[in-house]
Amino acid sequence: MSALPWGLLPDSSTVGVDGQLLVGGCDLAELAEEFGTPLFVYDEAQLKARCAEAVAAFGDGVAYATKAFLCRAMARLAHEQGMHLDVASGGELAVALSAGVPADRIVLHGNNKSDEELITARDAGVGRIVVDSFDELDRLEGLFGADGIVPQILLRITPGVEAHTHEFVMTGQDDSKFGFGLKVGDAARAVERARAMDAVELVGIHAHIGSQVFVAGFFEQAIEALAPFVNQTGLPELSIGGGIGVAYIEGEEAPSITEWGAVVRKACDHAGITARVSAEPGRAIAAAAGITVYRVGTIKEVPSIRTFVAVDGGFIDNPRPALYGSGYETFVPAAVTADRTEVVRLVGKHCESGDVLVSEAKVPAGLVVGDLIATPVTGAYGRSMGSNYNLLPRPAVVFVADGQARLVIRRETEADLLATDVG
Ligand SMILES: *Cc1c(COP(=O)(O)O)cnc(C)c1O
Repeated sequence: MSALPWGLLPDSSTVGVDGQLLVGGCDLAELAEEFGTPLFVYDEAQLKARCAEAVAAFGDGVAYATKAFLCRAMARLAHEQGMHLDVASGGELAVALSAGVPADRIVLHGNNKSDEELITARDAGVGRIVVDSFDELDRLEGLFGADGIVPQILLRITPGVEAHTHEFVMTGQDDSKFGFGLKVGDAARAVERARAMDAVELVGIHAHIGSQVFVAGFFEQAIEALAPFVNQTGLPELSIGGGIGVAYIEGEEAPSITEWGAVVRKACDHAGITARVSAEPGRAIAAAAGITVYRVGTIKEVPSIRTFVAVDGGFIDNPRPALYGSGYETFVPAAVTADRTEVVRLVGKHCESGDVLVSEAKVPAGLVVGDLIATPVTGAYGRSMGSNYNLLPRPAVVFVADGQARLVIRRETEADLLATDVG
């Protein structure tokens, strides 16, 4: 059995004198002591590097999909690296604005935006709205246009491309709740309708084929499918959405943002697309920069069946295994390069048997209660998708760099959990 593949750890990872993992020069055991567990630790330099890579690959206009992981520090970081911010709710918009991101660098998404969300966007002066439906065009007509406030919009198109990824995160197929179907003619009707409206300024086309897509070729297919339509409209912008995958487990390989950008650009050139092309990566920015550190609370051996190792978090800090059957690796921060010779089931502390973090988790021999155990590549769709099930407070988040740890989201308290309970 093998040690954890080093490439799954954050870029700034190093091995300390006792064989322990340091990220951003910080010892995980000390961080766990100071901030408690479970704890999300992000390599800040890596987040910056991925944002800069996205800007280099796609140019100005490329947006960070904040739903992957958002807090004010992250919003500021992405903005300072030159990215726009893609938000998909009033809550995400509020965090981005409160971080000081200028509204004209924000793009608002959502298949069912409320009047309140659209009004907030209008009043703040949000730069772009990606319109998802005819009902939304009606709504915009009612809310905009007066006082000369006319938002720039893109229309979300479903190109009819099935990217091979989990069904729940596949969004480019005809049978989708998102966007205007290309094949059924809704896309063309939406362009016509938007052009006839005084309340909006149509500036582009948007498509997002799905998430955790490993094969850049699916983006080529989507671009090919969209090109005649995009070219016919003559609109100046095309966003191909996000979705490029990342490696989570041993043996997986994913294209880099740079490679993805090159494939997209080439496909657009090949298809004669003259619109300015941009994108909205989320996972590829945040996933690999983050790890989650847990503490082992109980170990239960079931003779000749398996060993369950229970930690102090669970599917409320990482719902992906339960939602998608996603796999993760495990390692012991105190001995990060150790051979992982045993297989256990890493489970959480929730009242449900589906609360499994890693079904077949490789661990070094000698794991005991009180040890720290960690999962890499948890920076995206972990904390952001989490919940308060069992009323467990959500974990803290720290950014580490140059030997310093900075608390960016504090651990929730029981008082936070009671704050909204007014009965
Ligand atoms: C989720 C989403 C993204 C980001 O997807 P990733 O897989 O995290 O890159 C981008 N755009 C839209 C419209 C999305 O829904």
